[in-house]
Amino acid sequence: MKILVANIGSTSLKWRLFDFSEGAERMVHKGGLERVTDYAAAIETCLEKLRQDGALTKEGDLAAVGFKTVLAKDLTGCVRLDEAAIAAMEAMNHVAPAHNPPYVAGIRQFAKRLPGVPLVGLFETAFYQWAPEAAMRYAVPANWHAAGIRRWGFHGASHKYIAERSAELLGRPEVAERVRRLYQDGPGQPPQGPPLRVISCHLGGSSSITGLRDGVAIGNSLGLSPQSGLPHNNRVGDLDAMAVPHAMRTLGLDLAEAERQLCKEGGLLGLSGVSNDIRDIQAAADSGNEQARLALEVFVHEARRWIGAYLVELNGLDALVFTAGIGENRAELRAAIAANLDAFGIRIDPERNQAARAVEAVISPEDAPVKVLVIPTNEELVVAREVRRLLQQG
Ligand code: ADP
Repeated sequence: MKILVANIGSTSLKWRLFDFSEGAERMVHKGGLERVTDYAAAIETCLEKLRQDGALTKEGDLAAVGFKTVLAKDLTGCVRLDEAAIAAMEAMNHVAPAHNPPYVAGIRQFAKRLPGVPLVGLFETAFYQWAPEAAMRYAVPANWHAAGIRRWGFHGASHKYIAERSAELLGRPEVAERVRRLYQDGPGQPPQGPPLRVISCHLGGSSSITGLRDGVAIGNSLGLSPQSGLPHNNRVGDLDAMAVPHAMRTLGLDLAEAERQLCKEGGLLGLSGVSNDIRDIQAAADSGNEQARLALEVFVHEARRWIGAYLVELNGLDALVFTAGIGENRAELRAAIAANLDAFGIRIDPERNQAARAVEAVISPEDAPVKVLVIPTNEELVVAREVRRLLQQG
């Protein structure tokens, strides 16, 4: 069974092709296109590359295309992307303007190009279905809550992968198995033994932090929208609710312009005034740019604030995990985020930390009570597995 997972950005298409034949889980192709202006052409190029590289002899061999969909109204989990599901995504376009519109456009193009192939989405919110209600609730009037104004949490595929893989690396296969079967069986009873307490830091173009108790999320720093929690590349993080009407009044912005600036000119770009990319911001900070230095400090501060929150909720920690573009590659930011936490058993070995780049690694000293891990995420595998399960259910 071959499943293509398409990762759709506003100007990019990345993909991985998985072959699940004979019980194996093999990734047989991986590729991507940047600066995409014509999505139909990008899909054509993707299919052409799969053929050329011998990963797919004919399109009919595709069992499904899977998508890491973000948010839909009254819909989560792993679902067929029919018209009703697409409409539910469109109903949330204004909450996730950087994500939902390109996904909907991309899904429609795939539907046109591959009419017989099932299209399936695993929503990023799915992983937080079992988080305690108190962690997901905003203090808003009841009718706001009824209108869906609550925390949803995102990056579910990534944090689920980290939950499973960290449990394996920490010698807790029963917790890993619980995570693997989570969407099928629900959390059920916690496994025997001491609770496994993990904090997963997905730090990248978008960033979020999640607390994991025995593999199940107890919350996520992203709330109603992917514009909350830590500062993102160019999207604002947590912000006082009154900041928006205040900025609109004092800067004379209309709603559409305020939304645009929050989603395009905020985050690390807004803070640094330099770039939305940590590499550029670090280079500017290293050459004395104070605004760039402050942007990095805010990022580190916000990451620590969320780590602190989950450290308390979990009543201690077994492992702190770093993943995604920044988490996997930026040793200096990992060191800054985990600095001065020895009172909680969290320490980093500088040499191990420097050496860990985009590979699984333990970066805490051997004798530290808390393991600090780097684990490259594999969101597409999580999506592909759930797509397979949905197809097998018929
Ligand atoms: P996205 O959330 O868009 O998938 P990534 O997870 O790739 O983004 O993270 C992007 C961020 O990670 C950027 O700020 C970039 O500087 C940093 N990053 C990504 N890859 C590397 C790398 N190989 N070396 C250093 N930094 C990287």
